[in-house]
Amino acid sequence: MKNIKSPVIVALDFRSLAEALSLVDALNPADCRVKIGKELFTVAGPDSVKHLVDRGFDVFLDLKFHDIPNTVRNACLAAADLGCWMLNVHTSGGKAMMEKAANALSALESAPILIGVTTLTSLDNVALKEIGIRESAETHTLRLAGLAKECGLAGVVSSPLEVSLMRERLGSKFLFVTPGVRPLGTSVDDQARIATPLEAMAHGASYLVVGRPITSAPNPASALAAINEELIH
Ligand code: C5P
Repeated sequence: MKNIKSPVIVALDFRSLAEALSLVDALNPADCRVKIGKELFTVAGPDSVKHLVDRGFDVFLDLKFHDIPNTVRNACLAAADLGCWMLNVHTSGGKAMMEKAANALSALESAPILIGVTTLTSLDNVALKEIGIRESAETHTLRLAGLAKECGLAGVVSSPLEVSLMRERLGSKFLFVTPGVRPLGTSVDDQARIATPLEAMAHGASYLVVGRPITSAPNPASALAAINEELIH
């Protein structure tokens, strides 16, 4: 088990593996973890995970699987074979889907952490109504997170502003992985509901997904170091 004190997961939202690798060349795997999402995975495929694992990084494979239970189970096992540290599924895929994935992974000797995506933060109450969901985004999110816990998932992705309430309901062991994190004085970009790293951790976050404040910084290693310094000291 690696001893990484930092809760930071750097989002490698790049269009090529070369760009992602050039960024991580500046980072130490003891100081952060990394996230591969749909963009990088679509251009660079499983090799992107393998390259980062070979360089010593814990990799969160953020592909948000959502399909029939058997397909999601098999996709999760394939992701585990790549050596990723964390992966996720859409909780709206339902109980049978989540249980099948969680059970399959828990039978592995070295299983990645399985977390769930609840309500996409891009969906407001109006957008939810359009797809037939009449409860509020907050109620819906709590319902999906509770279901994820029942099904054996280790945690959920959550906005930093929702963490306190969720942690209260779901207990101290459940993991909350929060994007929408912006250190003071950095650009908000297209994020709407943000918190600083320290605020997100104080609300009860377990891991912080941070992309552009690190990847677009003139010196990514110093940007990461500044966040770690703020959190660890
Ligand atoms: O660059 P930035 O820090 O905004 O990147 C945040 C990362 O977290 C991106 O990879 C984005 O896709 C992801 N994410 C998010 N909001 C969510 C879920 C995931 O920003 N609700």
